Amino acid sequence: MKRVFIYVRVSTEEQAIHGLSIEAQTAALTGWAKEHECVVVGIYTDAGISARKPARNRPELQRLLRDVEEGKGELIIFTKLDRWFRNISEYYKVQEILEKHHVDWKTIQEDYDTTTASGRLKVNIMLSVAQDEADRTGERIKFVHQDKVLRGEVISGKVPFGYKIENKKMTIDPETAPIAQDIFKQYTIIRSINALRKYILEKYGRAYAHTSLRMLLTNERYIGHAHGQDDFCPALIDPEQFRLCQDLIKERGQRNLTRSDRVYLFTGLVRCAECGNKLCAHVIHNKYIYYRCTRNDKLHLCPHKKRTNERNIEKWLLENLVSSYEEYNLSLQRQAKESRQKIDTEKIKRKIEKLRDLYLNDLIDRDSYEKDYIYFRDELRKADSHEEKRLKPVDVSGLSDVLTVYSLLSRSEQKELWNRLVGHILITNNDEFFVYPVSHK
Ligand SMILES: [Zn+2]
Repeated sequence: MKRVFIYVRVSTEEQAIHGLSIEAQTAALTGWAKEHECVVVGIYTDAGISARKPARNRPELQRLLRDVEEGKGELIIFTKLDRWFRNISEYYKVQEILEKHHVDWKTIQEDYDTTTASGRLKVNIMLSVAQDEADRTGERIKFVHQDKVLRGEVISGKVPFGYKIENKKMTIDPETAPIAQDIFKQYTIIRSINALRKYILEKYGRAYAHTSLRMLLTNERYIGHAHGQDDFCPALIDPEQFRLCQDLIKERGQRNLTRSDRVYLFTGLVRCAECGNKLCAHVIHNKYIYYRCTRNDKLHLCPHKKRTNERNIEKWLLENLVSSYEEYNLSLQRQAKESRQKIDTEKIKRKIEKLRDLYLNDLIDRDSYEKDYIYFRDELRKADSHEEKRLKPVDVSGLSDVLTVYSLLSRSEQKELWNRLVGHILITNNDEFFVYPVSHK
């Protein structure tokens, strides 16, 4: 009994063509082997692989050739020659191996005879025809593709999340579209793909890999763009929001390169309430991060002895940031009211005029005029500068929303968030905290 190898190959484009599927080829070949009383020693299937691909890039063909070299069989069968090769030089490279090990090949749906000169010529001709055909098939597939693009039809069956296919066209899916929109919106707030993944998983039960979520956020189809067309499909995301997401992704990608492993959340933000010095981060037992005043060393330049655990600062901020800022805003309002009462610039101006009258009418001497004038002038300047550096209230709307996703962020993202939200934090020797916004100098 002859021992046969069955070789099956199909390219991605060919899968759908009748009779070329893996199943169809395998069924025909095993049927033939049975009919001719052959023993099948192995079925080798290269799926999704074009015949133009060199033999070395076809894993199953490689396995087949190894088995040929080990003498496991005498005959290779495939349905048609173009399953085997569509390239003359590749064909001869492999043919050399087969001849060395006395292995023949046979097509079950075509008739070739490689033992005669005319038979070998036929193989040559068929291979060059097949090669030509492959070139044209490539062209044809491209052509069909182009045509579909122009009609706005879906090329592959996959559409971005939030869309569905209706009459071969991409349309907005009312069920999933709001989720897709929320994903984009949340990214502009959270600004971290990892945290966004957790958010989506928790809120919608959808698990995304980091790269696929990144791909979703950069998919231009969400603004209607595809295949060089501006209106390939209906837009789901506002173009401005989409651009912002692209900028953020790019910016973060660059930042990641310089990110250091150990992150101290509050370096530069925490200050000693006793001396005003910035507190320094220290690591204890390779685990706990503390902040302390470096002026409290052997010289005791500062009485601030307290070492403050980073976790305490973090916890306090999460619980008190919003209320602290609300209080801060109230105090600004009070101050503004008080300063208006205290310093009335018009009143000062009137006093200066009166003073000048007194002097001009010789009712006061020059010395007292100058003394008083300088006093009023300084008052006036103070009032003006107060007006100038009038502190702005903090926008606390949305602040608590941002803090609810805090635990989802990585440490460096958390650090970045504190830098955006906090100007500085005063810490007293009694471990009391006072937080000031970025706008407060
Ligand atoms: Zn200090």
